[in-house]
Order: sequence, then C-alpha cells, then structure tokens
Amino acid sequence: MISVEEALAEILSHVQPLEPETVPILDAQGRVLAEDIVSDIDIPPFDNSAMDGYAVRSPDVAGATPESPVGLAVLGSVAAGYVAEVRLEPGTAIRIMTGAPLPEGADAVVPYEDTSDFDRSKDDRLEAPADEIQVRVAVGARDHVRPMGEDVRKGERVMACGRVIRPQEIGVLASLGRESVLVHRQPKVAILATGDELLDVHEPLVPGKIRNSNEYTNAALVTRTGGIPIRLGVARDTEAHLTERIRTGLQRGADLFLTSGGVSVGDYDVVKDVLGSEGQMQFWQVRMKPGKPLAFGLLPGGVPLIGLPGNPVSAMVSFEQFARPAILKMLGHADLAKPEVRAVLDEPLTNSGRRAFVRVIVSRKEGRYHARTTGEQGSGVLTSMSKANGLAIVPEEIYYVEEGSEVVVQMLDWPEGMSL
Ligand code: AMP
Ligand code: MG
Repeated sequence: MISVEEALAEILSHVQPLEPETVPILDAQGRVLAEDIVSDIDIPPFDNSAMDGYAVRSPDVAGATPESPVGLAVLGSVAAGYVAEVRLEPGTAIRIMTGAPLPEGADAVVPYEDTSDFDRSKDDRLEAPADEIQVRVAVGARDHVRPMGEDVRKGERVMACGRVIRPQEIGVLASLGRESVLVHRQPKVAILATGDELLDVHEPLVPGKIRNSNEYTNAALVTRTGGIPIRLGVARDTEAHLTERIRTGLQRGADLFLTSGGVSVGDYDVVKDVLGSEGQMQFWQVRMKPGKPLAFGLLPGGVPLIGLPGNPVSAMVSFEQFARPAILKMLGHADLAKPEVRAVLDEPLTNSGRRAFVRVIVSRKEGRYHARTTGEQGSGVLTSMSKANGLAIVPEEIYYVEEGSEVVVQMLDWPEGMSL
C-alpha cells in the first residue's frame, strides 16, 4: 500500500498549469493570474483633496487658532471631476470637494469643520457660504492632500503571476484601466460514473438499483474547485461501453477524467481492464480509510485519469485528497492544501492502521475548536458528509485517540459565523 502523500505526489507530477487565456476582468474572479500586472500610470493620477473643505496656501494659515482665526477670500469652488480655473494667490482659498484636484498654488486643505463655514449646532456646513472664510486651525504643507501616486506608482508591479483574483484585485485592475486579464484556463473535467446498478435522478427505483449520486457530487465538487464539468453519464459494467464513454470524453476535449467505481476487486470491476488497454494505468491501494482503492494513469494524449472509489463517501474523501489538488494545480494555484485546524475531540476514536478521515462537526467553544463525529461512519453513508464540516485525520500509526486530545481537522467548509 502507498501513502496518501505518495499517491498525491505521483498524480501532481503528471499535471501542469494549463495555458493562459484572456478574460474580461469580471470573469477573472477566483482565477489565477498568468501575467505580471505593471502599472503605466500613477494612482491617483493627480494630487487631490482628501476632505471637503478649502484649498489654501499653508503659510497663509500657519498662525491660525480658534482665538485668532485667519481670514481668506474665497475665489470659487472645485468639485470632483473638474479642474479649478483660477490660481490660488496669497490670502485666498478655493472651496474644494473630496477627490477634486488640488488647484494650482494650493499646497494643503483645511476641512470645513476647521473654518467659519461650519455650523457646530447642526454639525453641518452653513447653508449660504460666504465670500470670505475664517480658518481656525493651522495646516502644514500636504495636510489633507492625497498625493499623486500614493496608491500605485507608474512602472510599479502591482500583482505578480500566481495571484488569485478577488473582488479587490478586480477593482485594482479597473483602476489601472485593464478591461481584460491573462489567467490560466479552467480544466474541463470529464465525469464518468460506472455501474450497472446506477439509475439517474428521474428514474424510478426498481429492485437492485440505486441512484447515481457520485456523478452529481463530483460535478458539484469540480465546479466548486474551479473546473468545468463534462458529464458523461453512466458507463455500464462492460468493457465496450466504458471504452466508448472514455473516447467520447476525449473527443469533447477533457483535460482530466474522474471516474467512480470499478477500481476495487469485484467481479465486474472492468475499469481496471479498460484503463489498462486504453492507457497506462496504475491501480493503487492507498493507506487511507475510507478510500483505499484508487486508480491513476494517463489516457491517450497524456490526459490524466483519477479513478475514484465507488462508495460515495470514499469518492468524496478521495476527491478532496487527490482530485482537488490536481484541478487547483491545473488552474495555476500554488496553495493546494485544504485549510486545517487543531480541534479537541469530544469523543474517543479508534483506528486500524490506515490514515483515517473521520467525518466530524467542528464548532468553537471557549476559544478552542471542538470536534464530534457525525455518527455512523460507513463509506456508503453519504449523509455523514452532509452533516460534516470537517474530516478529522487520525495518523496511520495511531490506533486510539482519547476523548479530550487534539486532532488535526481538514475543514471541508468554513461555517458562516465561526470565528477563527
Ligand atoms: P464499486 O467500487 O464499483 O464496486 O462500487 C462500490 C460501491 O459504491 C457499490 O455499493 C456501488 O453501488 C456504489 N457506487 C458506485 N458508483 C456509485 C455512484 N455513482 N453513485 C452511488 N453509489 C455508487
Ligand atoms: Mg461498480
């Protein structure tokens, strides 16, 4: 049997980041930059006011105090989006709004609150501003001025290749005047369930049959990870049908295949035979529970295939350990691991010499994370995944974990409202 790390390393050695494509910035959310972003402008592009108030020459008001204010003649007003047409001469001021360019001759801004153009009883400006104002507080050069280039300097590298695009990166790109951006392409992931017992969701249950849940879980996992699922439906447990489905997926341009079922030791586990003849496959026993059987290999054209186990919980746990990192790597991500926390176990756990991934519910109590199991842990009990928000990891060599001891939990989700 091989370890989880050995299996993952082998899989990752066969997948590479996909080639870049250009997408509109709003479509780049969650994607990974495939270019360095260098600014060809200063942001802000000009010195501007950080406050609503009066643009002044700071030496004029150097001695201003509430007791002996300094009077200045108001030459006019400048709003954001406009440029003052007059130059500030000694003894004058220009009314200025936040974001408006600093008028020529001015070197500082006095906020309204520090002038006679302010009604303290209403905490607001005077209704009818006067032609002359009294400045009650001194300002130094550059006070309340946002200097040109404060945010970004012309020629600066603002983001490097590999950056994951969030809303704030989209905003920065917009402020740089970028309509589109180069990101790694999303992998098309072919999803193929195998098994004569499988019915689709709309089909009535008949004796011996069950519904095909893996196709849906896998498609949703692929989407959530950032890939594009290509659903190939169910392959019957015959070599001919499975071969036909795999060829269809290749024709549809799959970058990665995810199959489920047919990789263990049953009589009808034909995936093994087909994959052996269609490509170069390896069949592994991974030292983990659930998820011991796993297949991996390359189809014609070097397209990787991950053969997940059939049991719905095993398939999901194996997806998180092997398929998710592979998809993330194809998307250009450097951070491939799921977030982990250390949690206090609220009940004891037993283990059997493989790495256990125990479905748990993590909650926060008195400043610590606590984990309790979701109950029945059978690898066919998919509701155990539905109840869980984490997988408690019990190492191979640990056979018993006492209640009250700490375990590492791989978080499946970060529940809304759970503090760090
Ligand atoms: P297998 O590895 O093909 O023997 O499948 C192991 C178990 O998983 C069997 O009980 C199957 O019925 C079940 N199984 C396989 N594929 C699916 C699927 N797509 N949806 C739900 N259960 C499945
Ligand atoms: Mg099967």
